[in-house]
Amino acid sequence: MSENKDIHNIANRITNTHNKISDACNLSARPTTEIKLMAVSKTKPIDAVMEAYEAGQRIFGENYAQELYEKSQILAHLTEIEWHYIGPIQSNKTKIIAQSCQWIDSLERLKIAQRLNNHAAEFDKTLNILIQVNISRSEAKSGVLLEDVESLAAEIVNLPNLNFRGLMAIPDQHEQVEQLKSEFNQMHTCYLMLQQQYPNVDTLSLGMSQDLITAIECGSTMVRIGTDIFGARG
Ligand SMILES: *Cc1c(COP(=O)(O)O)cnc(C)c1O
Repeated sequence: MSENKDIHNIANRITNTHNKISDACNLSARPTTEIKLMAVSKTKPIDAVMEAYEAGQRIFGENYAQELYEKSQILAHLTEIEWHYIGPIQSNKTKIIAQSCQWIDSLERLKIAQRLNNHAAEFDKTLNILIQVNISRSEAKSGVLLEDVESLAAEIVNLPNLNFRGLMAIPDQHEQVEQLKSEFNQMHTCYLMLQQQYPNVDTLSLGMSQDLITAIECGSTMVRIGTDIFGARG
């Protein structure tokens, strides 16, 4: 399928994704209003983002700092877009990340949190923050271990230009569904514990194109969908 054809299918693909979300919600007896849909537009052209926006999509995720910066500049007139940064954060990129988005969903280090807080103050804004958890305890994966979430959260809530909103995780690929459920359920338990301590916590970002249904069954409040909306990445 050509790139162009993909673009004209984006509205349909978004509708299909919403249908999948509501099927999953029905299965889990959850209201669909509990689940937000993030469109992950990394590597996809501006036209694709605009097509999704015209189809009503408002939450977008990017995971390369420079690409986020460029897209957010070019699309600055689309004032309803909510940009999320979901990629690894290098300290020399904290300024353009802080400038370009409203949410950072991949925080894993206090030092980075402090830098983001300082930049957010310079830009006179507040950044919403999710801590990324290395739920599969994989050497290769980003994120903090589950047992280290509480201490990092306790530091983040002291930073005035950051608003701590919850957790995000990317499990290992090709996991058995029982293992995946166990990891998602551990995330959900940690999320509920944080909600008791911090009233602003309202976001549990779990689920991608392949595991959306399991994620919703296990309590996700935000799914991050790339391939199912924009097609495969080259
Ligand atoms: C790329 C990416 C996604 C989207 O994955 P798909 O399988 O294409 O839906 C979701 N979350 C993160 C953090 C990503 O990097």
